[in-house]
Amino acid sequence: MSIRIQPVHHKSLAERAAGKLAASILDGSLAAGSQLPPERELMSQLMISRSTLRESLKTLEDNQLIESRRGIGWFVRKLDDASLAKGKEMVQDADASSRSATREPNTAPLRVPIAPEKPIHIPNLKTDRLGTFEFISWWDREKVQKAKVLVIGAGALGNEVIKNLALMGIGNLFIVDFDKVEAANLSRSVLFREADNNRSKAEVAAARAKSVNPDVHVQYMNGDVTTQLGLGIIRRMDVVIGCLDNREARLAVNRFCYWVNKTWVDGAIQELLGLVRTFKPGEGACYECTLTEQALRDLSMRYSCPLLARQNILLGKVPTTPTIASIIGAMQSQEALKVINDMPIQPGKVTHFNGMVNEMHTTAYVPREDCQSHWTYGEITELPARAEHTTLADLLRIARADLGPDAMIELDQELITSLECSNCNTKEEILRPLSEVTFEDGHCPTCGILRESNLTHIITGDENFLHRTLASVGVPSLHILRAHNGLEYRFYELTGDLQDALHFRHFERMKINLIDGKTSGRVRLKEPVKLEGLHVHPASGRVKFSS
Ligand SMILES: [Zn+2]
Ligand SMILES: [Zn+2]
Repeated sequence: MSIRIQPVHHKSLAERAAGKLAASILDGSLAAGSQLPPERELMSQLMISRSTLRESLKTLEDNQLIESRRGIGWFVRKLDDASLAKGKEMVQDADASSRSATREPNTAPLRVPIAPEKPIHIPNLKTDRLGTFEFISWWDREKVQKAKVLVIGAGALGNEVIKNLALMGIGNLFIVDFDKVEAANLSRSVLFREADNNRSKAEVAAARAKSVNPDVHVQYMNGDVTTQLGLGIIRRMDVVIGCLDNREARLAVNRFCYWVNKTWVDGAIQELLGLVRTFKPGEGACYECTLTEQALRDLSMRYSCPLLARQNILLGKVPTTPTIASIIGAMQSQEALKVINDMPIQPGKVTHFNGMVNEMHTTAYVPREDCQSHWTYGEITELPARAEHTTLADLLRIARADLGPDAMIELDQELITSLECSNCNTKEEILRPLSEVTFEDGHCPTCGILRESNLTHIITGDENFLHRTLASVGVPSLHILRAHNGLEYRFYELTGDLQDALHFRHFERMKINLIDGKTSGRVRLKEPVKLEGLHVHPASGRVKFSS
């Protein structure tokens, strides 16, 4: 038998309340099978806040004294020996602490304010679009208005997420999609109109987000997240939301987020089924951890013919409904809102929703020790360099100054150096990033058969193309590049691109017109996007950014 030697400390309000409720259960005033009074009543009887009450109820539930019946409320369970003993222990602990508390001056608060740090502010609901949110105890208006969110994918899920984020006044939205609007999207995408046919999804979604809420700043990129989005953009976000429909893109986003230590919220839908999961580097499983051996094998198989792999991704289409997109998109938006407000989240867990039987359940994934994604960049050096102007030789010179003569650069994307035809024994020099070479390009112009592609992603200094710019070998603006000497890594950001690559000023003119009252706030997509008040000048020295 062990003896507790620690003195009895002040119990939390929640523990004391749990003790009082346990006492009522043990003395029969709350009988087995009976329902507990409503939360509001318990809060006033016990003089505690809702969150404290919930904590107490959770303790009672953990000790098998009560159980929750979904949608109805809390019920007293039939006690067994174990739960009876637990209940007695809870009552004793609470008694002991209230005795010790009475010996002290009466300094303990009777009632804990729900969110003491939140100043009281009475919004004007006639003029303040976001006023109602002020009544949410944990809503931090400043954090929400300053937040930067990257939404990857503007399909059915992306439309719902972007709509929600704009409605909630999330300050800055960056939207990425490589696809174009087509008729079939109109049944699932609240932000698209018939007249948008063949326009960039990212652009249309950004414009409509701006028209849903002109206070929101938007930026879009019509491109492929796996190759065209600079890591420096992800690095400056508060949270990333994946509205993707394929494993390849999810895997890429997962790795990028891990590299720059960013939380991301994944959503997936199919027919009436969907799931939401949040991944946070270093806390629980990541997306790659969730993939089975078979799935990882399938992915590497596809990479064995790189040109075909890309082709296949573009063909994948999943049947979805606007209703499941609303449900899952709403949950993703809420998770992102929680991240922005520093509310607790459950990284590494998945919530499945089955719309056929309306069941929802949450389970934790098991993190994999050997997961390839678990790698976070160290200190990032911000160079005044730009992808368009910096050559491989320039970057290699910088890396060698830091890491010595053996430094080499590791590109994220494979570079096709040449294509070789085994039939007619011809070799064509290419030197283009894999993403820019199509499956058709891969075929021999003479014999028509698929040629062998020679790839590289390591720049050692022996190459005959060191004069090429980073952009020309597929490095996106504001990217972060890796260099190493076999022992040590260094990370270099092309911070000279910052002002062009990350501005959140698309469709900004619209807001100005709205203030003048001159236009109806209609977004004219065909007009070129003007970046008001943005002066781009060549960066000099080390570039600092604020965040
Ligand atoms: Zn992992
Ligand atoms: Zn040939």
